[in-house]
Amino acid sequence: MGGDEFVVLLEDLDEDEQVAAAQAETVGEKIREIIGQSYLINGHEHHSAASIGITLFCGPVRTMEEMLKQADVALYQAKADGRNAVRFFDPAMQTAVSARVALESDLRRAVSEQEQFLLYYQPQVDSTGRMIGAEALVRWRHSERGMVSPAEFIPLAEESGLILPLGHWVLTTACQQLAAWAAQPETAHLTVAVNVSAKQFHLPTFVEEVLALVDYFGVNPAKLKLEITESLLLDNVDDIIAKMTALKACGINFSMDDFGTGYSSLSYLKRLPLYQLKIDQSFVRDVLTDPNDAAIAKIIVSLAQSMNLAVIAEGVETEAQREFLELNGCHAFQGYLFSKPVPAKEFEQLIAKYA
Ligand code: C2E
Ligand code: CA
Ligand code: CA
Repeated sequence: MGGDEFVVLLEDLDEDEQVAAAQAETVGEKIREIIGQSYLINGHEHHSAASIGITLFCGPVRTMEEMLKQADVALYQAKADGRNAVRFFDPAMQTAVSARVALESDLRRAVSEQEQFLLYYQPQVDSTGRMIGAEALVRWRHSERGMVSPAEFIPLAEESGLILPLGHWVLTTACQQLAAWAAQPETAHLTVAVNVSAKQFHLPTFVEEVLALVDYFGVNPAKLKLEITESLLLDNVDDIIAKMTALKACGINFSMDDFGTGYSSLSYLKRLPLYQLKIDQSFVRDVLTDPNDAAIAKIIVSLAQSMNLAVIAEGVETEAQREFLELNGCHAFQGYLFSKPVPAKEFEQLIAKYA
């Protein structure tokens, strides 16, 4: 732009403003670090530092001049803050980005120390009210913030790659629990469902990782259920199908989580070795009052029936919802009606109630 001013235009950032901001910041930091490295010219060492201002293309379309002016304002802020820094045009954006960066560094530490994570279990029950299994849901007990919701930190873990070690911890803990339950007559019949992120699944060693854990803990593979989401099918479907088929051949079952909220193509659905569809809680919530949700829930049940798949509803909070689903052919349920997710010890006390 001028003697020592450059413009970088980033394309294809995420649609979500927060995520796009985090991505832009990552690139900004990368540029800042690289420019900050010393270099030699004619045998003399030189140092440079970059001040970087960022603005996002979002909301109403703005002119190029306007965008550049915003980036310039952010650039001056970076200089005012002592140079060698990255700043956003919008102070609110800056605050959000800083909070995210702080949370990510806490998450990184927590994952390496592995002491702040807990695995909770939420009952899954059948038509007769008997408990058939549990979904394992991770919890992060942050030393200062208290419980951080997985809805908040799982996306961050996915974006930063921390989901790989964290997901491994979850799988390990779940298999260990499954083995402990298999040894007790009251709990030997229980299945455990584990959420698996697309990133984890795409790992070339994923199949071996799962099989090694099953083997190590001596778990009955038929008791392990992996919950995947439709987003897994966005790329490299053939690889996914091959991995699922390999795991299925060893007895491990798959459940399609949040079913109906993504972009499932019915032709893929036919090719996937699934065991179960899980009706998303967004359809269950208003199943009694919203005719569209009721229709979707019914369609998912009949789709499952015609494809020979099991079906379970999540987010079941009232007896009336349970009854409606039951009358429409869904015979497995999970939700606050039975219990919220609880630690393994508390879960074991629930078993007597749903025996
Ligand atoms: P999800 O897999 O769809 O999990 C269901 C969420 O609904 C859980 O939230 C659960 O606590 C909540 N829930 C259960 N019953 C009810 C109900 O009756 N009513 C309502 N309103 N909510 C109910 P949670 O535990 O906060 O988890 C949020 C999401 O975080 C999960 O959604 C899942 O996508 C992700 N997650 C949690 N644990 C893991 C994990 O170990 N690995 C991965 N990859 N993702 C995880
Ligand atoms: Ca799930
Ligand atoms: Ca779900």
